[in-house]
Amino acid sequence: MTVQDFERFQLQPFILEALREIKFTKPTEIQERLIPSIQRGESAIGQSQTGTGKTHAYLLPIINKIDPAKQEVQAVITAPTRELATQIHKEIVKISKFSIDNPITAKLFVGGTDKVRAIEKLKTQPHIVVGTPGRINDLIKEQALQVYTADQIVVDEADLMLDMGFIEDVDQIASRMPENLQILVFSATIPEKLKPFLKKYMENPRYTHVAPEQATAAKVEHILIPLRHRNKINLLKSMLEVYNPYLAIIFTNTKKMADEVADRLIEKGLKVGRIHGDLPPRERKKVMKQINSLEFQYVVATDLAARGIDIEGVSHVINYELPSDLDFYIHRVGRTARAGNSGIAASIYELSDEDALARLEKMGVTFVNMDLEKGELTKIGERNKRKERKKQVDEIDKMAQSKVKKPKEVKPGYKKKMNREMEDFKKRQRRLKRK
Ligand code: ADP
Ligand code: MG
Repeated sequence: MTVQDFERFQLQPFILEALREIKFTKPTEIQERLIPSIQRGESAIGQSQTGTGKTHAYLLPIINKIDPAKQEVQAVITAPTRELATQIHKEIVKISKFSIDNPITAKLFVGGTDKVRAIEKLKTQPHIVVGTPGRINDLIKEQALQVYTADQIVVDEADLMLDMGFIEDVDQIASRMPENLQILVFSATIPEKLKPFLKKYMENPRYTHVAPEQATAAKVEHILIPLRHRNKINLLKSMLEVYNPYLAIIFTNTKKMADEVADRLIEKGLKVGRIHGDLPPRERKKVMKQINSLEFQYVVATDLAARGIDIEGVSHVINYELPSDLDFYIHRVGRTARAGNSGIAASIYELSDEDALARLEKMGVTFVNMDLEKGELTKIGERNKRKERKKQVDEIDKMAQSKVKKPKEVKPGYKKKMNREMEDFKKRQRRLKRK
């Protein structure tokens, strides 16, 4: 296997060796477009859908630029959740472990871990710092961590940073760094509210937006299944039986619902993992490990817990509930069909979801309508067919009434005659419509 396409970035041999090992043969589009400008030292905003390889778009140039001879922090990478930071750290190690002659060090600092031990870990400053903004900021204030030597900072999943209120911490970290700071911001969406922050730190950032061809990865099949009057847990269980997924993530909107769904599935004898914000850090870490070693076929998750996490081999995303913020539909579905694989996203919906579904369709999602009966999935007609058919009938009725005039002089039996004429007219119209 070659990594020829990566060679033009003039990466160091150990990085190319690592890429061979992790089987990256050619850069993704966002990597292709951003790596050269990051290498030129430009600040950048990278916006692309989930699963398009944003992590390595910044990791490769950052690792490549580290001077191992200087035992000081040269890059700070921030991420909104512990899992995400842990994952980024892991990706760094997969590459840095090839830097045998002049080892590059990266250290992870996240909340919910022992701070005294973190401070101890900082007796020598690492080359790269990865972590959640709160903890990093804390360690800077404790004067355990020195970031003034670093001229690169990454803000990954910036929109979520904003949602979770971490932008302030990022801001404080950045304010301790040199003036000519290179800021690299990554996100699937760039909300308006993020712009003041971007403006403050970036003079002429290079903005790279890799527009999705469709709202989500092309190889996802979006399936809708109506709840109708069924028991939701039973319907979910039947879906899981029919799909028999390699690995399915079942999304709920709240921690409470995640627990409820997980408990009910476990009662029914399924092996289910759960991941949400209320789990203690140690437990979350354990579950992530179990998920990645495929101990579960099913994982119940909430949005915040699942954002940005790269769980390998997710074959099915199931929306037990549609998210109220529809951007999350895109993020959820982004868990499957990563890096060129295909996947299925199946959502259970109710009549009240109609508006949301229409908006998703406007965002470019194409749904396949299916139903599950007697353990079998079958395609059904369009969701709003019934509504449309009714509209058509109403229209024909109106037309018929206007065409068939009430006679001026009312003779006996006129009503019957009018009705007959109306029926004839309607029949003709329906026949026309059918053609
Ligand atoms: P994003 O941050 O855009 O959501 P990630 O950086 O998490 O995406 O990457 C998604 C998946 O694609 C990961 O499993 C990653 O290892 C893989 N990947 C990234 N770049 C490449 C590449 N050039 N070739 C093959 N796989 C890649
Ligand atoms: Mg990412």
